[in-house]
Amino acid sequence: SLQDLKPRVLLLCSPCMGHLIPFAELARRLVSDHGLAATLLFASATPKPSEQYLAVAAAVPDTIDLVALPAPPAAAALPPSASALERAEHAVASSVPRVRELARALQAAALVVDMVSAAAARGVAAELGAPLYMFFTSPWMTLSLLLRLPEIDAAAAARSGGGEYRDATEPIRLPGCVPIHAHELPASMLADRRSDTYAGFFAMARSIKGVDGILVNTSGEIEPAVGDGMEELPQVHPVGPLVWTRPAGVDRDGHECMRWLDQQPPRSVVYVSFGSGGTLTWQQTAELALGLELSQCRFVWAVKRPHQSSTTGAFFGTEKGENISLDFLPEGFIERTRGVGFVTQSWAPQTAILGHLSVACFVTHCGCGWNSILESVMNGVPMVAWPLYAEQNMNAAMLEVQVGVAVRAKVGVDRFTSREEVASAIQRVMVGEEAERIRKRASELKDKLVHALSKDGCSTHALAQIANVWKHAHGK
Ligand code: UDP
Repeated sequence: SLQDLKPRVLLLCSPCMGHLIPFAELARRLVSDHGLAATLLFASATPKPSEQYLAVAAAVPDTIDLVALPAPPAAAALPPSASALERAEHAVASSVPRVRELARALQAAALVVDMVSAAAARGVAAELGAPLYMFFTSPWMTLSLLLRLPEIDAAAAARSGGGEYRDATEPIRLPGCVPIHAHELPASMLADRRSDTYAGFFAMARSIKGVDGILVNTSGEIEPAVGDGMEELPQVHPVGPLVWTRPAGVDRDGHECMRWLDQQPPRSVVYVSFGSGGTLTWQQTAELALGLELSQCRFVWAVKRPHQSSTTGAFFGTEKGENISLDFLPEGFIERTRGVGFVTQSWAPQTAILGHLSVACFVTHCGCGWNSILESVMNGVPMVAWPLYAEQNMNAAMLEVQVGVAVRAKVGVDRFTSREEVASAIQRVMVGEEAERIRKRASELKDKLVHALSKDGCSTHALAQIANVWKHAHGK
């Protein structure tokens, strides 16, 4: 077929839904708009595919070949103490032989990796003589931090008093970005600089430098400084925001919450969700429920069963099984909010919800994968930014201070957010002058982004240029 004659791009995605969703959208665009064929490889971390993976995979368009690579053999299992990054890297590393085989068989014109899979794919690209590109699915600010890590590290080492980032009194200043305070850094940077965790993070950051170019899921409209201070290679190309406009793996019309939203007044509903993995503690889940009640706003809440531990703070994990009971919600909550609130157990049709006219605010965790944020801005929906993990504070600060489309929920020193704070942050986004300003800004930003992604827009143009480089490289 014609498809076979087109140069084929091989995309390698580590086991993370927050990467797979934008990767699928990138692949879709390469095929539909840029004359390429695409095979998307997903490195599985578990022998049995997760429910989330199956849901997302079912919604990937047929124009893309999606292949789930086998998980690492049980014999090579990592100890339970291994971090999420280590697990993801392990899954990618064990898939290399298969990736090599496929890359040869398909005569891949280019390899596209995520920030986790770069190191593993480097050898394959070199053997093939194909360009190696990264699709960075987090903000430019994060990429900028990673690219500058060697300098930042050297500065930390030169400081008196141990040189740990967590003890730094001065924020890290990256060109054109909000200052990053010590407590907002990724967990791997808050670990001891001599620890294995930090070493792994440092190595990952360094692997980014070794690629031929970096596509970033952002745009100058959101992050005006994208690419600044990058005179050296690799070149940075803002091609975003690439998000799904159709729900990822759920039937929009089949979902009850869409019918409920149809019955609500325009711009009256708050949507609450913490991404594919973020869960709260029992105590925080109950407090959020009471905060929603206190706000007196209508809401749709894609709730997850809380983390078992009674300690405060967030826990990253996924729930297995449908129809979990809602016994963790405060007594009488469902009855008292009947008609005003709609509680659904995720997986929710998020992009359809954000695109619905009754939705006026999104309470989000500011995921490091930042898809939720991009989906919100693409729909012109203002946010309450509620960072669950330290590094999400960077995104929250950017959204409030720099982009002006969100209000940050204050998280206490014990990482607990009170019901009063939940209600007040929601109120600030929903009513009054500040709300008006934020809504206007969100709506303007949406228009600019829609343009950036249109046929003549800068993001489309940036991707077209790269596609041309790949086509040109092919067969040389
Ligand atoms: N998502 C969804 N339904 C849900 C929860 C999440 O469709 O109930 C989708 C959401 O639209 C987004 C992705 O899952 O595309 C979550 O990615 P994000 O980067 O926001 O957060 P992460 O899950 O990586 O922390």
